[in-house]
Amino acid sequence: MRGAIPVKIKKREVLAELYPHRLNFYSTPPTAEISLEQFEQWAIHRLRILGEIESSQFRNKTPKEIEVTLEPLLKKYLPLSASSYAKLSSKNLETVQLERKKDHYSHFILRLAFARSPDLRSRFSRLESFLFRLRFSTDDAKERDAFINSLNLDWDPVPEDEKLLYTEQLSAASGARIFDSTDSIFKVPWEKVPDLVEARRVFLRHGKAYVPSALQLSLVSAEFTSQLDRALELTARALPRLDEDERLVPILNHLSLGFTAPEFVSSTDTTSLLNGAPVTAASVDSLVSHFPLCMSHLHTTLRRNKHLLHHSRYQYNLFLKGIGLSVDEALNFWRSAFSNITDDEFNKKYRYNVRHAYGLEGNRRSYKPLSCQQILTEHSPSGNQTHGCPYRHFSIDNLIAALAGPLGGIQDRDVLQGVRNDVDQKRYHIACNRVFDHLHAKELKREKDEGRSGAGQRETIIHPNQYFTLSWELKHPKARKWFKGTK
Ligand code: SF4
Repeated sequence: MRGAIPVKIKKREVLAELYPHRLNFYSTPPTAEISLEQFEQWAIHRLRILGEIESSQFRNKTPKEIEVTLEPLLKKYLPLSASSYAKLSSKNLETVQLERKKDHYSHFILRLAFARSPDLRSRFSRLESFLFRLRFSTDDAKERDAFINSLNLDWDPVPEDEKLLYTEQLSAASGARIFDSTDSIFKVPWEKVPDLVEARRVFLRHGKAYVPSALQLSLVSAEFTSQLDRALELTARALPRLDEDERLVPILNHLSLGFTAPEFVSSTDTTSLLNGAPVTAASVDSLVSHFPLCMSHLHTTLRRNKHLLHHSRYQYNLFLKGIGLSVDEALNFWRSAFSNITDDEFNKKYRYNVRHAYGLEGNRRSYKPLSCQQILTEHSPSGNQTHGCPYRHFSIDNLIAALAGPLGGIQDRDVLQGVRNDVDQKRYHIACNRVFDHLHAKELKREKDEGRSGAGQRETIIHPNQYFTLSWELKHPKARKWFKGTK
C-alpha cells in the first residue's frame, strides 16, 4: 500500500498538466485519439453554443442577455469548471480534464469545418472570440492571471518614466476612474485593440495604444482573435489534404451546415409536452395556432387538398408525432384527412409510412421530428411540393403574403420588413423567431413583468417542435418547460 501513494500523486500531476488552465488560446492542435462519435458529438455541442451566440446577436440581445441565455446551455453542452474545483478530488480532476479536452477538441474540429471560406472563417472567429471573452470575464481572477502569464504575450510594458511623462494623457484617455499610476500599462499596436481605440479609452502615440491592465480583457481577446484569424488562414491552406479523408469530410460538411441553423440537440421527452393533455386526431386543428409557418402551411394544404405529397407527409407526420400524437391517433388523423380516397387505398398506400415513422415497420427505427436545420438544408421542395421552410423556400412575395394573410395575420410593417431583411441575409430561422416574438409579444411581456425569463432570455428556436411547445406553454403558463426559472 505504501508504494501506491506516490503513483497516485504522479498520475494526478500528469493529469493536471494536460490542461492546467480553464481558458485556452488553442495554439496547439490535439493529438490523442478520440472516437468518430465523440468527434461529431463534441463538435455539435460546441456548435449549439456558437449558434445560440449568433442567433442572439441577430435578435439584438445585449451581451448580458446573451450571457444569461447561454448559462444553462454552457452547463449542458460545454461545461468548463475552474481549476479550484479540480483540486477537490481525483474524480473532480478527471471531470475537469475531460471538460477541457472536449473544449479543446471541439474547437479544432469546428476550425476544420469553418475554415473553408472567408465568410465562415470570419463568423467562426467572431463567435469564438465572444465565447472566449465571456469565459475570460467569468473566470476566477487568480486563475485568469496564471493563464495570462502562461501566454508569454509580446506586450511592451511602459516604463515608469514614460508613464510619468504622459500621466495627463493617460488619465484623460483612461478616465480618472480607471487610470491608476501604479497600474501596469502595456504598449501594443493600436490595431490590436480597435474597440478601445474606437471608444477613446486609450492614449495613442506613434501607432501604439497604451492599455492599462484594468482593460486586459480587450487586450487578451484581441490577441485571441488575431491568433485565431492567423490559424484559420493556415487551416484553410491545409484543407485540400484533408479532403481525401472519407470518414471526416461528410461530418465536416454536415457541421458547416450548422451555420444555416444550429443543430437541435434534443433531450426533451416529446410525448408529454402538453402537460398530460392528450393530443388526438380531433384536437390537431385546435393546436394549429401554435404551429410554426412550415407546419401550419402543411396543415392548411392538407385540409385544402385532402392530400399531401410524400416529403410533406414525412415532415408533418414526424412533427405531429413530436407533439404527442400516438400512432393510432396519427392513423386516424391521416385517414380522415385523406377523405377523397377509400380505406383500401389508404391502407395500401399510406398506412405503412405512418407506422414506419413510429418505428413499427421496416427497419423499426423510431424517427425523430425534423429540425429546422434538416428542413432548411435537406430535400429542397420543387414543383408543386409543399414541404420545407417557407422562410427559405417560398418566394419573398409569397412569404410576406402568407404572413400577412390568415396563416400569420401579421399587419405590422416593421415586422414584415424585418422578415424581408432576415431572409435577404439568409437568416431564415431568425425570421421565424422574429415572427414568434411578434405573435407572442403579450405573453412574453407578461413573463418578463412577472420576473420570469422573458423574451431576452429565451433560447433561439431552432426546431419546429420547440416552437410549438414554447408557444403552447406561453398560452398555458402553468405547464412551462422551456422557460428557465419557472415551475
Ligand atoms: Fe419551420 Fe424552422 Fe422554418 Fe420556422 S425556421 S418555419 S420552425 S423550419
